Amino acid sequence: MTSPADRLQAVRDRIAAAARAAGRDPAEVRLLAVSKTWPADAVRELAALGQADFGENRAQELTGKAAELADLPLRWHFIGQLQRNKAAAVARLGAVVHSVDRLSLARALARVGVETGRPVEVFLQVDLGGPEGELAARGGADPAEVPALADAVAAEEGLALRGLMAVAPRGAAPGPAFGRLAALAQRVRADHPEALDLSAGMSADLEEAVAAGSTLLRVGTALFGTRPLASGQDESHQSHGSQQPG
Ligand SMILES: *Cc1c(COP(=O)(O)O)cnc(C)c1O
Repeated sequence: MTSPADRLQAVRDRIAAAARAAGRDPAEVRLLAVSKTWPADAVRELAALGQADFGENRAQELTGKAAELADLPLRWHFIGQLQRNKAAAVARLGAVVHSVDRLSLARALARVGVETGRPVEVFLQVDLGGPEGELAARGGADPAEVPALADAVAAEEGLALRGLMAVAPRGAAPGPAFGRLAALAQRVRADHPEALDLSAGMSADLEEAVAAGSTLLRVGTALFGTRPLASGQDESHQSHGSQQPG
């Protein structure tokens, strides 16, 4: 059995090696620990080791854990599909929302940003498609619609556009898909220079994501272990079916 400290160090080593291989400064690549399905105590252990950013994919689980861990200076990220009626609760926590894929959701978040006077930081989730190039339809905007969505989001007073986010297609090599994402991100950045971040890369494909320019890796399994498959748990974002850390 490896300890949380060992696993965190192993992931940091992988990030540093991938950054060096890509000729990038490892400090440009931040780590977001995906704590979905794991109890608050597991978050506490990693937080004690210096990990500050954590991601959840269900609104209720996020609000519960954030309340339990309110004594810690954590930064929460929401990375799952978000229903409009749960958007306000997530935004009020100050969470960064990685899964904005439609204007109606963006506007629901923006209302909270205006109300609190603190813009909600958002990523636009891009659907990178399935192995045959079709849209995967598990969250994410059609790439063709992303530039217009970025314009609309950037125009919202209650939102701050951080960049693009995506999950690599299942059953296909992640490199080319991340390459397309990076090209789209560059295009969005031409009009919105503030959208500097790229949220891409998970346990199984973080090296390919770093090579493509990711600045924010969303890593769960390699940090916490293999998730128990609870009934009703949406595992549709699992990449490549791989559960192996490292
Ligand atoms: C679960 C999840 C992750 C983390 O996946 P691992 O393979 O466990 O590292 C990353 N991004 C999203 C959107 C997820 O739902």
